[in-house]
Amino acid sequence: MEIKEEVKIPQVEYSDRIIGDLKGAQQGPTVIALAGIHGNEPTGIEAIRHVIEKLESKKESFRGRFLGLIGNIEALQKKKRFIDEDMNRIWFTSILDKIRRTPIEELKTAERRETKKLLEIIDPIIFDEENTQPVVFVDLHSFSAESGLFVISTRDEENIELLAQLRVPLIFGIEKALHGTALKYIQNTGNIGFAFETGQHFSENAEDNASAGILCLLVAAGCISASNIEDFTRYYDYLNKQTQSLPHKVEFLYKHIIEPEDNFKMRPGFKNFDKVKKGQWLANDRHGKILAQRDGYVLMPLYQKQGEDGFFIVEESE
Ligand SMILES: [Zn+2]
Repeated sequence: MEIKEEVKIPQVEYSDRIIGDLKGAQQGPTVIALAGIHGNEPTGIEAIRHVIEKLESKKESFRGRFLGLIGNIEALQKKKRFIDEDMNRIWFTSILDKIRRTPIEELKTAERRETKKLLEIIDPIIFDEENTQPVVFVDLHSFSAESGLFVISTRDEENIELLAQLRVPLIFGIEKALHGTALKYIQNTGNIGFAFETGQHFSENAEDNASAGILCLLVAAGCISASNIEDFTRYYDYLNKQTQSLPHKVEFLYKHIIEPEDNFKMRPGFKNFDKVKKGQWLANDRHGKILAQRDGYVLMPLYQKQGEDGFFIVEESE
């Protein structure tokens, strides 16, 4: 299996944290899309840019605001998942509070400095008391496995109602296995937060999925009517086609944790939502064979060097 991290991609300068800020002429919800919280996942940035360019001429009929932001600028420049620590594992209320209180030059990791700058933009929106509607926050990701797309969400009714309109598989219960994520933090502030895993790192498919997903989300959230976007059905049908054969709702069962020096290697050929049987040989580490502990679907099999989650196993929920 090719290690996508090492794929040569053109050097892009990421200097501006704000990709675009579309303010509609009419009142409505605020949707924030964050991309590149992991530095080896830049596809979401292009997708946000595409959507903003597409909607730029629709400001008159746009309701609310769509803000696109970049997460980990330094890691993006270096095309690495992170520099010092995973930026999507430090969003604990107390750690964020410490980051806000600490002068930037005293923050010890690149990711905490990046987070501080990001919070300076997000905080006034998230904590705006004049806004009575929840902010919708989507955190865009890609993964090292070959295909699939899905949304990681909490079970809150508001989330499910909104996300069901995208018809992308919903994964519940991951918060039991992943701590300190941006989505969980945003959800805890009383807003709507979820992660959208759009496809394989650097792939055109991941970018197209992200563009279509964001457009469908803006329609679902009520920012714009589908009839105001001439080719909306093209995006909608495309997204539908990608998810046709995938389960609608799945529940987290199991995660393989990678520890330092494990030398974890996923066996080649696993894709998202491949069915696995308990006892099936999935990966190796320096202690030997790693077998599936449960029946289910495999999710996010790891085919890159950085990361502590080897794979997940999920099962279909009602
Ligand atoms: Zn990611």
